[in-house]
Amino acid sequence: MIASQRQHIIEHCLAFPGAYEDYPFDEIIDAGAWTVMRHRTNKKGFAHIFERGGSVCVNLKCEPLRADFLRQAYKGVTPAYHMNKEHWNTVVPGGDVPDEELRRLIAHSYDLTKPKPKRTKNARLIEIYDRLLSRYGDPHWWPAETPYEVIVGAVLTQNTAWGNVEKAIANFGELSPERVMAMAHGELAGVVRPAGFFNQKARYLQTVTHWYAQYGFSADAIHKLPHDRVRSELLSLKGVGRETADSIMLYAFGFPSFVVDAYTMRLVRRLPLPAGNNYEAVKAFFTQNLDCDAELFNRYHALIVLNGNRHCRKEPKCGGCPILELCRTGKAQTKDENNRAQKL
Ligand code: SF4
Repeated sequence: MIASQRQHIIEHCLAFPGAYEDYPFDEIIDAGAWTVMRHRTNKKGFAHIFERGGSVCVNLKCEPLRADFLRQAYKGVTPAYHMNKEHWNTVVPGGDVPDEELRRLIAHSYDLTKPKPKRTKNARLIEIYDRLLSRYGDPHWWPAETPYEVIVGAVLTQNTAWGNVEKAIANFGELSPERVMAMAHGELAGVVRPAGFFNQKARYLQTVTHWYAQYGFSADAIHKLPHDRVRSELLSLKGVGRETADSIMLYAFGFPSFVVDAYTMRLVRRLPLPAGNNYEAVKAFFTQNLDCDAELFNRYHALIVLNGNRHCRKEPKCGGCPILELCRTGKAQTKDENNRAQKL
């Protein structure tokens, strides 16, 4: 039973791209051996599988806040045996840890240990990225199940809060392009009503869905097309502006197309960065000064949004901002606050 449970976890780990099985601590591979599941490129271990006290155990890397939460939520999750206890958990599968949670934790550990995107160009941009990533972790954007859900979210989020988009998407029940193609305009407008401007947005959705239909609703087919062709086709559709087009390019189809939004513009202004003050100039600045890597662009934009929500708001909350030391506005603001505090 234990042996088959262990084998089952090993096989699950082997399904991840580039994963392989290693036994670095034991010459004899028996029940007492530690199996280390590693990434082929950087050789880092993402799952250490062993037996202890009659149970299979798996050490998995985890962001510290999430690790604390899990340790409180499950008896079967504890600070890691024989490894760094801040960043690693020991998980005992079965018991009160559901299989689905275990699979999520293995994927999380795999992501945390996989090779970082190559980054060589602008040291300041990289330092900003590193600080944001180390504060917030990988945001795993976009929050959607399918490429089409990304497209719908990117259209609906124009001029409204994300919470309203979630309500509109929930109204679909099952969301598919075939279903949207079959809906009359009035019906679709009723479904997307919570996202505001519902008549317009229903029309925009129908337009972009018809465009998607030309490619058989296949994100893979679109990903094989030239980047510039897809972007210009998207930009030619009514209701798809630059930010929406780039969000769809990056998050639905995996093109390295940097997304610029109000948070990005604000950050550029406040740091400041010599990126210009219009959409295409700022996009070009990030694109030319970072390695052309969709995963890097994906995370970078998501991290800017996270920091924009927590700190770099319209009224900035610079205290505790992870990039305060790199930011001229933040330094000036905290200096003023300190001066005022000293005078009191
Ligand atoms: S230090 Fe202040 S102004 Fe600068 S990025 Fe952070 S929150 Fe924004």
